[in-house]
Amino acid sequence: MVKVSQAYDCDVLVVGAGPAGSASAAHLATSGHRVLLLDQHHFPRDKICGDFVGPVGLLELSRLGISEQAIESQTNIINYASAFLENRELVSATIPEITGFPTHGRVIPRLLLDNWIFQKAADAGVEIREGYRVTAIHKDKYGVTVTAKANKQTFYFRTRLLIGADGSNSMIARAVRGYSPPDKDRIVAVRAYFEDVDGPQDRADLYFTKTSFPGYCWLFPTGEGRANVGVGVAAKMIPASKLGLKSLLLNLVKTDKVLHQRLANAQLSSKINGWPLTTYDHHLPVTSDRVMLVGDAAGLINPLNGEGIQYALLSGRWAAEAAGKLLVDDNLSQAALNIYVKQLEQELRYDMAVSSLIVQVIRNRTFNPVWLRALEIIGAAARQSPEYTSITGGVLAGLLPANDLLSYRIIGGTLKQAALSLGVDTVAHSVSRPMMALHSGFDIARGGVSMGVETLQHYRESIEWGQDVVKGGSELVVNVYQDLATRYGSTR
Ligand SMILES: Cc1cc2nc3c(=O)[nH]c(=O)nc-3n(C[C@H](O)[C@H](O)[C@H](O)COP(=O)(O)OP(=O)(O)OC[C@H]3O[C@@H](n4cnc5c(N)ncnc54)[C@H](O)[C@@H]3O)c2cc1C
Repeated sequence: MVKVSQAYDCDVLVVGAGPAGSASAAHLATSGHRVLLLDQHHFPRDKICGDFVGPVGLLELSRLGISEQAIESQTNIINYASAFLENRELVSATIPEITGFPTHGRVIPRLLLDNWIFQKAADAGVEIREGYRVTAIHKDKYGVTVTAKANKQTFYFRTRLLIGADGSNSMIARAVRGYSPPDKDRIVAVRAYFEDVDGPQDRADLYFTKTSFPGYCWLFPTGEGRANVGVGVAAKMIPASKLGLKSLLLNLVKTDKVLHQRLANAQLSSKINGWPLTTYDHHLPVTSDRVMLVGDAAGLINPLNGEGIQYALLSGRWAAEAAGKLLVDDNLSQAALNIYVKQLEQELRYDMAVSSLIVQVIRNRTFNPVWLRALEIIGAAARQSPEYTSITGGVLAGLLPANDLLSYRIIGGTLKQAALSLGVDTVAHSVSRPMMALHSGFDIARGGVSMGVETLQHYRESIEWGQDVVKGGSELVVNVYQDLATRYGSTR
């Protein structure tokens, strides 16, 4: 039986002090609200991550008072990114120039990054409890009672509004939705640190290989010869991969020539640790009465590049801005909190839908020859056109703050070319007609039969995959329509 006390311990209780939770807590406390922040760990604490923070994330950090001047001596600058396919350079691109944003990224070990944001929350007047693991929530008409365990004791906290910022395995999201996100929306990734790494310190590397696709391996230099090296893949591949992620990473370090060259004199200086990423599905609610989800808890990961820090910081601020207004009138119903959902949808849904569709498509490894050929074509085009370089380099490396319609055109066109160059007519036909969404997924699956017996062996999974592609494709069409309608008024 949950004890319900009527006195509030705070206006807003935030669960999880990662970038999303600490940012939302700091913003709310700065605007005068009483905020309590709970985390199961004690800070500074590490978090398994690639540590790359792009221009958008850096701008959000400066909004929290963490300026570039303050962090430059402790973090490594990234001026450009290179993508390699089977030991050949596909594309090298500097960080695209976008007005108002820095023209570089930074690799910031999470031990430092999260602690800086956490300290900003403390400085803003947030009350913090470390070592408190939230185990249950109980909502009623007037507030939320949160149960937490610390030092083998149970504590209850009463709040007017609860923000769930407890990461990709969020218990608050499960409590709100009643279920966990499906595996097809998940990416799994491992990372390790290496010392004495060769090569340019200001270059972020992405390595695409047959063995790691659909997914990629990265090397992000953290400065002074160290680097964060990892690999991430779609959690649900067709057919499933037999190689574990740790073995895959060690195997790539040995077999990928470019990666091997950079690590020829290097030593592994950490364990190889893994963590799941949950990608955005706009069908899943991110609010309910008196509850909001932010960051990974809301699935705000770009499924194409695994980037989530910028979305954690952005959603933390947007949630704080929306909640700040609603707390004043104590109107915290799901309908009222919809202003936050609308902002998420306006700013991110379209980009996430494009990226999601691409991941849904490429998770069928039966078609790896098409996808890898598509990458080659993107690389070849990028070497010839600066605009293409900037867009594809930015999208692949996650350095652009937003995709636009062009991304879909580029990728759709590229897949068509790839399919044609491989002589797979059905695939070409399917990808060239995204509007005929009902048929495209199925046609791709049928077309794949000519690529080998694997599709037949995984026929059922392939059909399901085709249906997912259809779903993603139709949503994309809806999103494109809505995007155009917002930008240009009625599209009729
Ligand atoms: C291998 C890997 C590589 C990645 N690389 C990058 C990258 O290079 N760039 C990038 O932008 N993104 C990257 N990401 C994604 C990025 O790590 C996340 O998007 C980001 O951490 C999200 O921040 P968050 O605040 O939402 O959640 P988190 O950072 O996960 O923070 C959640 C917090 O909640 C706490 N918590 C959880 N459950 C409870 C509970 N029950 N009670 C109390 N506290 C709780 C945790 O202790 C934690 O401190 C990567 C992810 C992985 C797994």
